[in-house]
Amino acid sequence: MDMANVMEQKVQDFMAKVIASNPGEVEFHQAVHEVVESLIPFVEENPQYKDAKILERMVEPERVILFRVPWLNDKGGVEINKGYRIEMNSAIGPYKGGLRFHPTVNLGILKFLAFEQVLKNSLTTLPMGGGKGGSDFDPKGKSDNEVMRFAQSFMTELQRHIGPNTDVPAGDIGVGGREIGYMYGQYKRIRNEFTGVLTGKGLGWGGSLIRPEATGYGAVYFAREMLATRKETFTGKVVCISGSGNVAQYATEKVTELGGKVVTLSDSAGFIYDPAGIDAEKLAFVMELKNVKRGRIKEYAEKFGCEYHEGQRPWIIKCDVALPCATQNEINGEEAQTLVDNGCYCISEGANMPSTPDAITVYIDSKILYGPGKAANAGGVAVSGLEMTQNSQRLAWTREEVDAKLDSIMIDIHENCVKWGTEGEFINYVNGANIAGFVKVADAMLAQGVV
Ligand code: NDP
Repeated sequence: MDMANVMEQKVQDFMAKVIASNPGEVEFHQAVHEVVESLIPFVEENPQYKDAKILERMVEPERVILFRVPWLNDKGGVEINKGYRIEMNSAIGPYKGGLRFHPTVNLGILKFLAFEQVLKNSLTTLPMGGGKGGSDFDPKGKSDNEVMRFAQSFMTELQRHIGPNTDVPAGDIGVGGREIGYMYGQYKRIRNEFTGVLTGKGLGWGGSLIRPEATGYGAVYFAREMLATRKETFTGKVVCISGSGNVAQYATEKVTELGGKVVTLSDSAGFIYDPAGIDAEKLAFVMELKNVKRGRIKEYAEKFGCEYHEGQRPWIIKCDVALPCATQNEINGEEAQTLVDNGCYCISEGANMPSTPDAITVYIDSKILYGPGKAANAGGVAVSGLEMTQNSQRLAWTREEVDAKLDSIMIDIHENCVKWGTEGEFINYVNGANIAGFVKVADAMLAQGVV
C-alpha cells in the first residue's frame, strides 16, 4: 500500500469506531470525517498526539445534557420539546457556542456543531472551549408570548449547567436578540446575578456593538483575504448569498460596502434573483421583513419585481463569489459543479458545514478559493468572546474598535490557514483550518493530562 492508501485506511478505521459508537448521527459522522482526513496524517507525524489519544478524546463530548422543556401555548395547551446542551471541550476556556431552535435539531446535528465549534473557537485565538445546544422548538408561526414561555422554560433547566466561567451560550438559527433577551431575563431572575452568561445581548444590557454583524462581516473579510491571495478585490464581483437571516443580511451589507453586487437571497421556501443587486435600501426591506414581520423572502420579489424560484437554491445563478449563509448541506456535488462551471472561484462559508463532502471534493479538485465554515464564520464567536471581555471589564468598546478587532482576527485566521494549509501553489484552507485549530486544543489537552 502506498502512503495515501495507508492514511485512507486509518481514516476508515477511525470512522468505523466513531460510527459504531454514535449510531445514526450522520451529520456528526460527516463533520468528524472531514476533520480526521486532515488530522490523521498530521497526528501520524506528531506521535505525542497519537499516544495521548487526543483525537479519540476530542470526538467524545465532555458532557451531554438532555432535558424536557414543557410550556403552555396561547390556547392553554401543554407543549413539550427537547432541550440540549453539548459541552464538547473545555481545554482552552469555558464552553462557548450557540443555541439553535429549529424543528430539525437532534443530538447528531448538535454534536457536529459542537465538534466544529471546538476547532473554530481555537482558531479565533481567544480563550474559549466549544459547546452547542438548542431545541427542536420551531419559532415559526409562534407568538412572542409563546416564544417567551418556551425560552423561560428552556432556561429554567439550562441555568443550572451554565455560568460566565463555565459555559456561555449564544444565538444560532432561530435564536436572535428576542430569544436571547427572554433567556437572559429568566437566568437573571433565577440566579439573581447580572453576568455575561449569554452573548448576543442587547446593547443596553451588556451586549457588544458589531455582534449582530460579526458572522456575516467576518465571512466577507475572510473572502476578501482569500481574493487578495490572487490580487483580487470585491469591486465589481457578482455574489450569490443563500439564507436571509442574521448571517446573510450582514454578509450582504459588507459585500455591498466593499463594492460587490449581491444578486440572490433565500429562505427554506425558495430564492430571489435580483440582477440589479440588493442595495442598502432593499436590504433594509429584507431586515424589516425577516426580523420584525417574520415574513417570507418571496415578498422581496413581489415588492421589487424580480424573479422568485420556489423550492430551489441559488447555486444555479452565475457568480464570481458564493457565500452560503443558511444551513448545513445546502450545496451538493452537482450544485458545486454548476457554480464552478459558471465561473465561481471563491466560496466563503457563513453557515456551518453548508457544503456536502462531494461539493468539497469539487472545490478542492478545481483549486478554487474555498474557506470552510470553521474558519470563515468564526467572526461571530470571536465577537462573542469580545463581548465576554467587555462584560468582565464592565466596559463597552466603540463600534470602530470592535470592528477593527474582528477584522484583525479574521486576517489572523486566514494567515494561520495559509501557514498550515499551503500545498505548493495551492492553499488548502480545509487542512489549514483543521490543523491550526487542532494544535492549540491538543497542546492544552496534553498539558492538562488524561482528563
Ligand atoms: P437565522 O435563523 O437568522 O437564519 C437562517 C436562515 O437560513 C433563514 O433564512 C432560514 O430560512 C434559512 N434556513 C434555515 N434552515 C434551513 C433549511 N433547512 N433549509 C433552507 N434554509 C434554511 O440563522 P443565522 O443566520 O444565525 O444562521 C445561519 C447559518 O450560520 C447557520 O448554519 C448557523 O449555524 C451559522 N452561523 C451563525 C452564527 C451566528 O452568529 N448567528 C455564527 C456562525 C455560524 P427560514 O426563515 O425559511 O427558516
